[in-house]
Amino acid sequence: MDETLISHFIGGQVAQRPGARYAEVYDPARGEPCARVALADAADVDAAVQAAKAAFPEWAATPPLARARVLFDYLQLCRQHVDEFAALIVREHGKTFADAKGEVARGIEVVEFAVGIPQLLKGEFTDQVARGIDAWSMRQPLGVVAGITPFNFPVMVPMWMFPVAIACGNSFVLKPSERDPSPSLLHARLLKQAGLPDGVFNVVQGDKAAVDALLDHPHVEALSFVGSTPIAEYIYARGTAQGKRVQALGGAKNHMVVMPDADMEMAVDALVGAAYGSAGERCMAISVAVAIGEAGDRLVAALAERTRSLKIGAGMSEGAEMGPVVTRAAKERIERLIGEGAEQGATLVVDGRGYRVAGCENGFFVGGTLFDHVTPAMSIYQEEIFGPVLCVVRLPDVGSALELINANQYGNGVAVFTRDGGVAREFVRQVQVGMVGVNVPLPVPMAFNSFGGWKRSLFGDHHAYGPEGVRFYTRHKAVMQRWPNTASAGAEFAFPQMK
Ligand code: NAD
Repeated sequence: MDETLISHFIGGQVAQRPGARYAEVYDPARGEPCARVALADAADVDAAVQAAKAAFPEWAATPPLARARVLFDYLQLCRQHVDEFAALIVREHGKTFADAKGEVARGIEVVEFAVGIPQLLKGEFTDQVARGIDAWSMRQPLGVVAGITPFNFPVMVPMWMFPVAIACGNSFVLKPSERDPSPSLLHARLLKQAGLPDGVFNVVQGDKAAVDALLDHPHVEALSFVGSTPIAEYIYARGTAQGKRVQALGGAKNHMVVMPDADMEMAVDALVGAAYGSAGERCMAISVAVAIGEAGDRLVAALAERTRSLKIGAGMSEGAEMGPVVTRAAKERIERLIGEGAEQGATLVVDGRGYRVAGCENGFFVGGTLFDHVTPAMSIYQEEIFGPVLCVVRLPDVGSALELINANQYGNGVAVFTRDGGVAREFVRQVQVGMVGVNVPLPVPMAFNSFGGWKRSLFGDHHAYGPEGVRFYTRHKAVMQRWPNTASAGAEFAFPQMK
């Protein structure tokens, strides 16, 4: 066993195959490799799916309350390991320790929801739908379900999926991001410690080869995906073409509209946190501020000052507000887009290119970047930059802001900052976006609601976690029952009618 290799977890144990492909895992703050991760091939994926398939019947037959108790013990263990999870996130993702702990806390909330899932698995019962006949419905688990997750929330996004799937009686195969794979094995260890039977939760590390093997595996019943839009669309098309249930959450370009009557201090605080927190690598990050009328000058002046004074450093450094971006390729892509914005005529108010952090000279840092006078034709408006770059678009009124936002291909999150309840109400009703904030910049739904965008931010019918997650991971069954204690009315050849 190669102890330095981050590997798969199959059937209750760490699994390695000698000579398998692997990739480097980087510490983004130092810009150097910190570990290696195994890359599964179809045989590894098959082993994980077979383990999950073997574990499924007994887990599905386990009473929902007994399943919930295992998750309850896992919940307690998660609470005891918050710092360990957060340290792994900082090492492989780069975000600040405080932000990483917040990520773990939001993941734990889904487990808190999942321990109450027996309440949502109850069916409906109707007595006497016809003479001597009762009808009811029940929800049953699907079987083996898989989750494919992105780099930006290596603890929380898998927790959007597996606690709900497992509480519903499914067995699970997780394919985490190959950029920050370590937290997946901590989840596996803690679930096992909590008493989860071997095979109910499995991890395959890997890249496209592992994902394709999951998509094509005949025993994978459903796939949950979170990541970029092109891959989400691919997963949805290939998975559904093979009859699988798929929910595929994609990328985003989130706008925040600032009306002239907004509390400007509150709006600026909200924007710097939502644009630069986690170096802009959040699917709910605000990347476009839409300044209405005379809000523009005041907003840009305040934002420029705050953007210049951001505290940027390694995730574990004292007082850091923002860490590095995830890879050298991400840094280069973001810096190229900043160059394009300037070339295409936007005003580059604060330029974060070439940012250096003392002691971390090779780190993948990009400074906070602010553009003014951005137009919809520019590539910095059209592309999901996924870095610490905030674009200000100036528009005359809320109607033109709604037109801009509704024409955007993405529809994940949006916010409006105003003191006018009538403006806010109409905005909420008319905006074509899945998650809306009124004076709240990151309207991420709580675990007992459900999370999901519209348009090209989500392919599929169900949002993630909450009641939508329970529906995604279960099938509805309708039952009708009669006992032979009434005399048979004889064979009926016509559709029966109520008497
Ligand atoms: P990504 O799409 O590159 O990767 C996501 C997953 O897909 C990873 O596990 C990766 O290994 C796999 N993958 C990558 N390329 C693949 C391919 N060609 N074929 C099959 N599988 C492939 O995304 P990322 O860079 O890890 O994450 C950032 C993206 O995720 C952003 O676009 C962000 O907006 C999005 N995101 C969306 C949400 C949401 O809820 N809508 C949440 C978090 C992140």
